[in-house]
Amino acid sequence: MKIKYSLPQIDFKSLRRVVKHFGGHLEPFKSKLALSVVTLLGVSAMTLLRPWPLKIVFDFMLTPQAKMAKKPFLAPLARWDSLNVVLLAAGMVLAVAIIGGLLSYAQEILTKTVGHGVTASIRLQLFSHVQRLPQSYHDFRETGELLTRLTGDINLLQDLLAETFVNFTGQMVLIIGMLVIAFTLDWQLALLILMIMPLFVFAALRFSRQLKSAAGSQREKYGRMVASMEETLSGISQVKVFAQEKERDKLVGKSVSRDFKAGLKATKIAAHYSRVVEIITAIGTALVLLVGARKAFAGEISPGDLIVFVTYLRGIYRPVQVIARLSAKTAKAVIRGEKIMEILELEPEISDRADAVSAKNIKGDIRFIKTVFSYINKEPILNELSCTIPQGKTSVLIGPTGAGKSTLAKLLLRLYEHQRGSIVIDGREISSYKVLSLRKRITSLTQDTFLFRTSIRDNIGFGRKKASPAEIEEAARLVGADEFIRKLPNGYDTLVGEGGLTLSGGQRQRISFARAALRNSPIMIFDEPATGLDIHSEREAKEALRGLKQDRTLLIITHRLNFLDLAEWAIFIRDGRLVEEGIPSELLENKKEFYKFVGEEAGDHGHYDGLDSRIIEGIDE
Ligand code: ADP
Repeated sequence: MKIKYSLPQIDFKSLRRVVKHFGGHLEPFKSKLALSVVTLLGVSAMTLLRPWPLKIVFDFMLTPQAKMAKKPFLAPLARWDSLNVVLLAAGMVLAVAIIGGLLSYAQEILTKTVGHGVTASIRLQLFSHVQRLPQSYHDFRETGELLTRLTGDINLLQDLLAETFVNFTGQMVLIIGMLVIAFTLDWQLALLILMIMPLFVFAALRFSRQLKSAAGSQREKYGRMVASMEETLSGISQVKVFAQEKERDKLVGKSVSRDFKAGLKATKIAAHYSRVVEIITAIGTALVLLVGARKAFAGEISPGDLIVFVTYLRGIYRPVQVIARLSAKTAKAVIRGEKIMEILELEPEISDRADAVSAKNIKGDIRFIKTVFSYINKEPILNELSCTIPQGKTSVLIGPTGAGKSTLAKLLLRLYEHQRGSIVIDGREISSYKVLSLRKRITSLTQDTFLFRTSIRDNIGFGRKKASPAEIEEAARLVGADEFIRKLPNGYDTLVGEGGLTLSGGQRQRISFARAALRNSPIMIFDEPATGLDIHSEREAKEALRGLKQDRTLLIITHRLNFLDLAEWAIFIRDGRLVEEGIPSELLENKKEFYKFVGEEAGDHGHYDGLDSRIIEGIDE
């Protein structure tokens, strides 16, 4: 037989790096880990002891009384009667099984405790870190990919740090223990076992690779089969309308048969492996018997020794197989561990400067001065943009789609850092404020209001966990949400989202407005608040915004004219540059760019709602 085998590629440098990096998480579990190694040594010892009761009984029966005193294990039994010896052996069998069982129970629980503890600790560290990575990191990541890191990858790491280590130690101890005992009993027979061992190693390595690839292909085929059925069933009405049942039968039939073949292949490989192990074991046993029995006849070893040899030989493939599997697993865990490390080594969010001050008292006088910003490796999105967002006023930031309006808002929140120029709030560069304190003073609502799967009350209270129910209801009243919330099945305690209530766009928005109102920050940004709303909801949104105004700095971002009549200040940007800014009525009177844009927009959409008469007159002229 031509034996093809490959050692799993463990990169030991990486292994060291991974273990060093995550080893710290084992710290709180050090004593448990040590204890689990100790119990494992006990388990190994019990496994080694298993053939010994039989050996003692056989030797006692077959050794002439006269010779007994000379044999190391038999001498103390020389004067015992046979019944007592048999009782001793039977007792030993039970003791070995019971002690071994208890120890292996303890060992399993201890190792799993360490494993789960390590997983929890790494998972929390990674999650907490990922949350704090810059927005620019999340822009380019699939949530699914991050979830894989947080779930499957960490599980593999758990195996590597706890179970692999313990298991590897245990199996090695078992192999070494068997060899040491074998060599003490008879070096020639021990050498025979040592010669047969590599055959087990080759077989285990070869088949573990084959089995792995067969299992992988089986999973893939199974996935495809499920997908093909799922697709057909979810499109069942189309299948029926187009009378495609036969075709779909054929299509699904193919994937079913592929899954069947893949499953069969994996089973065949596993069965093949078991037979190969059996054959190697049989050859080994035959050899040991051949040599051993002759030695026993010649009196070089006792008959009981032969039992020990044969038992060890038959048992040695197991630890070899486990080690082969562990090395494959380790190789995989190291790669995954490195991926997790890559994430952990990324710098968390924009960090505070040493001299950063709290933004607790800012009012909201905002200036952009020749601000330049581009997303990673892209054209500048803000191109020396200069504009003013006056304190305590309602401003609209208007401009065509892609002008950079949302980007401007994100820079204010320091979700990204501008590259050149300045952004100043209340006379200070925003980089001189502490990031978190700044974000607490600015409330930004984007178009896609995200509601968490919890009660309406908790959704409103999202930005201020300590808010009282009265404050939450007050905030809802302020933005005109109280009335519809009270009509919901459970009022403020109605659950939102999956399995709960679905809300209309306008209602969702009102809840997010209430969330903003509760936060009571001096600066509020509303990014395209009219998106997806019908005219009725839009009017209500406008009322809500009026309610929120008070003496806040309100910035409404819009590419249309919906909220122009609320505005005391307008900033018109295009291609990342300021075109015009000023009091809307004055801008219209000037009849320059802003006037033209408003005219075109109003003409395009035929949607004058919200423009006050002064503006409409301005356009009509
Ligand atoms: P507006 O709000 O005026 O419609 P945005 O500020 O959203 O414009 O976008 C301005 C430009 O920046 C667009 O060309 C957009 O494709 C690009 N952009 C927006 N967000 C990102 C991002 N996270 N990464 C890279 N480019 C982006």
